[in-house]
Amino acid sequence: MSDVVLKNIGKTYLNGFCAIPSMDLTIEEGEFIVLVGPSGCGKSTLLRMVAGLESITQGDLLIKGNKVNEKEPADRDIAMVFQNYALYPHMSVYGNMSYGLKNRGTSKAVIAEKVNAVATMLGLEELLERKPRELSGGQRQRVAMGRAMVRDPKVFLFDEPLSNLDAKLRVQMRMEIRQLQRKLGTTTLYVTHDQVEAMTLADRLVVLNKGVAEQIGTPMDLYNKPATPFVAAFIGSPSMNLFDANLTEKGVSLSESLYLPLPHAHRGSIVWGIRPEHLAIVDEQDADFALEILAVESLGAETLVHGVLKDGSVQGKAMVVRLAGPHNPELNSLLWLSAPATHWHIFDAITQQRL
Ligand code: ATP
Repeated sequence: MSDVVLKNIGKTYLNGFCAIPSMDLTIEEGEFIVLVGPSGCGKSTLLRMVAGLESITQGDLLIKGNKVNEKEPADRDIAMVFQNYALYPHMSVYGNMSYGLKNRGTSKAVIAEKVNAVATMLGLEELLERKPRELSGGQRQRVAMGRAMVRDPKVFLFDEPLSNLDAKLRVQMRMEIRQLQRKLGTTTLYVTHDQVEAMTLADRLVVLNKGVAEQIGTPMDLYNKPATPFVAAFIGSPSMNLFDANLTEKGVSLSESLYLPLPHAHRGSIVWGIRPEHLAIVDEQDADFALEILAVESLGAETLVHGVLKDGSVQGKAMVVRLAGPHNPELNSLLWLSAPATHWHIFDAITQQRL
């Protein structure tokens, strides 16, 4: 049975603003779903609707086959981990982790057993007597996770749980969350605006744009076959290079002088794209583009070259190239690049759909 089903779910706020027009999503048991999108796209609204913290103004929300639209958060069998962890400052780690169970009238012995088991799993055994202020950011994050886990919920909800941690800890906690979720097999809905976090955590991603799911799929589906230029630009770092172009009988026309031959039935205005990692340095006679180099970012394992194109009417358009390993091209010199057709992405400029 599907675990969580959103059927034509919508949200219009009291002031009349429609944050989610209509959303359909079926989450399978044990699946890790990440909601991702830019600020204000409706991620938190959607998560809070599932949590019961925000009313649902249209459609049905089913958890384990039961409609829960009207149910209180506590009766939905879900546990939420917030961005700010929301720990009780005056309570110990043990107190924070046991609070939910105590409220439900669970016996002391069962609480102790559960809290100790979860604390062991999270490496918190030594910290049970401490107060939240006596913990590091990563430890607090673990306590917030632990508090959700002891309740043994059907569904975990995460609202940007790693955004207060430094970059290194974020990577570590991201791996821990993924491993724990696999081990527990708990269905998870996770919100982030960070596409790398989204890609590394998700079984499936939902890319939201203005409250609408632009695409739902595995990280590799979205990377290899983005459905729209919005998804193409959002997934992948640095972003895909995207250009307005025309598709004619001669191929993709980026300018009057620049044609990339491609047999394709479609004609008319398109958005043409290629990822920075799919451009290759070639000799001048084999090149599709000449890029004037404006900036070079050397990251050791890779080099990012930022420049502007020198061809016809695309002249002056920015392009980014991602090269494996160290490179040291001279600023203001030209880089000759080829864009292999197997890596092109083509979208209808009007419908914004992938062709
Ligand atoms: P962020 O990444 O910045 O947290 P988000 O994707 O989580 O953004 P939401 O917080 O879900 O976005 O907000 C979605 C839209 O709904 C925004 O345009 C926001 O201004 C609007 N919104 C949020 N809460 C309310 C409210 N109580 N009343 C009216 N509009 C609201």
